[in-house]
Amino acid sequence: MTKFNTLLVRGGDVHDNNTGAVNVPVYNSSTYRYPKLGQQVEYDYERSGNPTRALVEMVCVELEKGDRGFAFSSGMAAIHAALSIFKPGDHIVIGDNIYGGTFRLVNDFLKPMGIEFSEVDTRDLNAVKAAITPSTKAIYFETLTNPLLHVSSVKQISKIAKAHGALTIVDNTFLSPYLQQPLDLGADMVVHSATKYLGGHSDIMAGMVVTKGKELGEKVYLTQNSIGAVLAPQEASTLRRGIQTLNLRMDRHLENTNKVIDYLRANPKVAKINYPTLDQDSEAYAIIKDETNGAGGVLSFELQPGLDSREFVNNLSLFVLAVSLGAAESLVEVPAFMSHFEIPKPERLKMGIKDELIRLSIGLEDADDLIADLDAAFSKI
Ligand SMILES: *Cc1c(COP(=O)(O)O)cnc(C)c1O
Repeated sequence: MTKFNTLLVRGGDVHDNNTGAVNVPVYNSSTYRYPKLGQQVEYDYERSGNPTRALVEMVCVELEKGDRGFAFSSGMAAIHAALSIFKPGDHIVIGDNIYGGTFRLVNDFLKPMGIEFSEVDTRDLNAVKAAITPSTKAIYFETLTNPLLHVSSVKQISKIAKAHGALTIVDNTFLSPYLQQPLDLGADMVVHSATKYLGGHSDIMAGMVVTKGKELGEKVYLTQNSIGAVLAPQEASTLRRGIQTLNLRMDRHLENTNKVIDYLRANPKVAKINYPTLDQDSEAYAIIKDETNGAGGVLSFELQPGLDSREFVNNLSLFVLAVSLGAAESLVEVPAFMSHFEIPKPERLKMGIKDELIRLSIGLEDADDLIADLDAAFSKI
């Protein structure tokens, strides 16, 4: 069987390649000719299918070891499609620390439609079990959460879900299929913000759903084709190019992340670092060891009480002050004032997100330069 790195570079199947082009062409055609009335065609209209999009979908199916893949115009469109398979009265257990946009979709769209949700700390398997009701149809979570890097076990949660006849849906944005393949560990459906590591260059917005089994694939396709938030051909081609270097990028993300962590650990102005491999006696570490090939390129840390996170990030020059993650360039953000600003402060503090918390998405630069940038900013606070 073809191995992972070969699939990254050569995966998928280039259709209709009359010219011998090595890459799948960008098929900018919204409609397709029927040779004869009544004849079956593979493509007839872009919302329903496009060869450039189909290629990147197939690549993701191979990487995630699923059966069908669906590319969307954003991660949120992908998550919407994944959750659109549920009906009023269905109950879903969701992680209590999942992506903010997913919470907005749940609270402002899906709950008013009559789908029920329970928010649970999915690290706590007893809490997951306790939240399950006879109407529970799925458990939805992220292996690593943002910005505190809490770790949940796909193996153990999917076991609980299966025992209750419920599906397991994993947002695999933070790890990417290079570091974890949730379907192999028992999940039924994987979603991605391909805007992040899969695309990898902060130049496209994209989402992906990979499903296992015939029924789930048909349901998600119905939403993709009905709602129409499909990935455009040019973006699909750019996403494909990003994916080809996922292995090289993730290796460098991991290497740089470990070097930055070593620097932060030795810095007396740092009160705490959140990254799951730091405490080797922890359950989080055991899960990372058992279920992943590494904990990725995002970490967060707290400045000592009284030090000003806003002043710190304003003193950085190489780290780009921006939300998002998984890019070639290193990014920094302050959750309390940026990504998690909408959460009222008492609730935010209860979640463990202090004003002093800073999140880094480590890029592909020279680690020495990243460390020098951090060091210069620390010296000014
Ligand atoms: C960014 C992100 C999303 C949303 O994806 P978009 O591409 O921004 O729509 C969903 N889940 C996680 C974990 C993310 O980081």
